Amino acid sequence: MGAPLFASSLEPYHDRLTEAIDRVARSGRYILGPEVDAFEREFAAYLGVRHCVGVANGTDALTIALRALGVGPGDEVVMPSFTFYATAEAAIVMGAKPVFCDIDVETFCVTAETVRAALTPRTKAIVPVHLFGNVAPVPELRELGVPVLEDAAQAAGAELGGVKAGALGDAATFSFFPSKNLPCLGDGGAIATDDDGLAERARLLRFHGSRDKSTFTAVGYNSRLDEMQAAVLRVLLPELDGWNARRREVASAYERIGLGQGVALPREVSGAKHVYHLYVVRAERLPVGRGYYRVPVHRQPAIAADVDLPATEEAARTNYALPMGIDLTEDQVRAVCASGST
Ligand SMILES: *Cc1c(COP(=O)(O)O)cnc(C)c1O
Repeated sequence: MGAPLFASSLEPYHDRLTEAIDRVARSGRYILGPEVDAFEREFAAYLGVRHCVGVANGTDALTIALRALGVGPGDEVVMPSFTFYATAEAAIVMGAKPVFCDIDVETFCVTAETVRAALTPRTKAIVPVHLFGNVAPVPELRELGVPVLEDAAQAAGAELGGVKAGALGDAATFSFFPSKNLPCLGDGGAIATDDDGLAERARLLRFHGSRDKSTFTAVGYNSRLDEMQAAVLRVLLPELDGWNARRREVASAYERIGLGQGVALPREVSGAKHVYHLYVVRAERLPVGRGYYRVPVHRQPAIAADVDLPATEEAARTNYALPMGIDLTEDQVRAVCASGST
């Protein structure tokens, strides 16, 4: 009776989610307790990394991870402009300077060539974005000799060469915002890394720069994943691979049915297993779908960076995200293709 408690795609998990929330509510532990500990262990094991540090959201995850990597005020961080604004914002708030590089318009991701063109002696980190659920070629980026922080906010469960996105770089960040592939019921984020020291610094920074809550050795943040969200994530993490398999089926249906002439379908980075956070095609004009990042980050009023990024401009102008999700049926895909055929 009454309206469903959760978004329709989470309805099948209603009882388990309610039980998890109730368990935390009754426990009296709401911040940095057993649920966060357990989720951090479970997500680290899922990714195949040594450490996961839960934080308040994906934007804080980027800021804290950059600082934990040793990036400081004035340092340059190379990143794409064709991304959600938060990627750049997270670097700017900690005093670093984003340097925008171009992308491969077919994959929407940076490449070793586009990143190399933006490197300077002041570059302290590279932040590739696994855009729309694709996976940027991190192994090639690591050969450039600068620490790599993966922005994996849109790519939970994606893989490159059999390695999970988030386990490819020196560190990685995730967002559990409700629309992401691994959602919670509010804001949430995490940092993943194999580096013991980096994980330790991230833990310190998420709690006001203190290890013991009485001595403060750094100026940090109040940025924790809370117990309720961690309990929710523990219910949903085991579903992630099944959901992503479903998204890949929807993507193959789009490919099979086809949108017609003049529409470029998304291309996986070589060796990548795309998880289609969004299914984004390119066309001069489509009557269906919506465009993402029509004004790329480098041209946003708060940024206004003077840089020439032709592939970014092309992607920004011509991309259309078609309906994608775990509930989408083949008939719905067919209907989208019919209305979108030019
Ligand atoms: C969602 C997103 C973020 C920010 O995550 P929040 O949890 O919303 O702070 C950062 N980068 C990318 C690419 C994203 O899609």
